[in-house]
Amino acid sequence: MKISTDCIHAGYRPANGEPRNIPIIQSTTFRYETSEAMGKLFDLEESGYFYTRLQNPTNDRVAAKIAALEGGTAAMLTSSGQAANFYAVFNIASCGDHVVASSAIYGGTFNLFAVTMKRMGIEFTFVEPDCSLEELEAAFRPNTKAVFGETIANPALSVLDIQRFADAAHAHGVPLIVDNTFPTPVNCRPFQWGADIVTHSTTKYMDGHANAVGGCIVDSGKFDWTRYPDRFPGLCTPDESYHGVTYTERFGLEGAFITKATAQLMRDFGSIPAPMNAYLLNVGLETLPLRMARHCENGQRVAEYLQSHEKVAWVKYPGLPGDRHYELALKYMPNGTCGVVSFGVKGGRAAAERFMAGLKLASIATHVADAKTCVLHPASATHRQMNDEELAAAGVSPDLVRFSVGIEDIEDILADLEQALAGV
Ligand SMILES: *Cc1c(COP(=O)(O)O)cnc(C)c1O
Repeated sequence: MKISTDCIHAGYRPANGEPRNIPIIQSTTFRYETSEAMGKLFDLEESGYFYTRLQNPTNDRVAAKIAALEGGTAAMLTSSGQAANFYAVFNIASCGDHVVASSAIYGGTFNLFAVTMKRMGIEFTFVEPDCSLEELEAAFRPNTKAVFGETIANPALSVLDIQRFADAAHAHGVPLIVDNTFPTPVNCRPFQWGADIVTHSTTKYMDGHANAVGGCIVDSGKFDWTRYPDRFPGLCTPDESYHGVTYTERFGLEGAFITKATAQLMRDFGSIPAPMNAYLLNVGLETLPLRMARHCENGQRVAEYLQSHEKVAWVKYPGLPGDRHYELALKYMPNGTCGVVSFGVKGGRAAAERFMAGLKLASIATHVADAKTCVLHPASATHRQMNDEELAAAGVSPDLVRFSVGIEDIEDILADLEQALAGV
């Protein structure tokens, strides 16, 4: 099926007389006739539900839909995008290990990697997405376990050369993990370009209406962990915390990564989304292709308008001809990128703040990528914890305004920009 059809139908096919919508199974527990039957579930000998922290039918159906949209073999929902990125990396890297990451990533992810996971003993080397092949090669160490990047970086809006990063990762026998939040699978499917694991903050376009924080991890099922059993012992040797199961043996390449993330990480860290939130996410997914088309159309118009405005110092939008990442955007996202536009107002930080205060339709919000146009100054909000050097590496200048173009009528969005810029 085409992606618009999968957005509606994948992951759930009701049998005769069953609910047409994915039912919300808002239950922590599931009943069994005998202890023996339940024991088999705990041993992963049989599949079935027993406790929602590990698995829930509503969540699983929505995860299966996202797996289909990305063209993956298995997926797991998490309670936030932060949890998704943490689990995706921690599932294969632990104390003493190392990860290569793009420096142009979401501020929260940078903090997770550079501060919190560092405290757990995992070292990260950050490379600019446009770095030379030599710089990329030099970032790898013998204990490197993964490479991480964002298809379109939030808020730098640089485009990751997925194929180049995948080739480098594979040459070193490690997977490429790609956060595909901004383009969504409607505009880019990183598995087609060699990525091995995809993550999402479903909080953004997938949900699309700013009503539920959530995340997702999808496995392509293509990375062969068993070729490097010493590098990935967690997947290739018995898990003593789970009755000696060896994930790659029992669940194959298509199921090992997600089963381990569920049985081990979700069991122990417990960032499971409420079934109600999974339900809301699914409602958003049904209209994702329609909304993405509109976000991209409006985003393009806004970028072009800003580019020709005398009070605007610069505009960053990968869909603009002449943009540093235009060619990469055409290659990886021929149908459009996203609705987020970053730009600087002449007069720097103070002018940016005056411009933002003058907006009437667009609201100042710590959010991005939903139906309602909103705006944020990352240097004083999401990227506040970074020093100037880190800000520069992340592609966030002090005057950067992140403008998330919604799906309102474009004439109203442009009129709002016009009057706010007039007041600067
Ligand atoms: C927002 C965001 C995250 C974090 O997701 P939450 O759902 O807010 O936890 C991760 N990656 C990207 C690209 C994001 O935009």
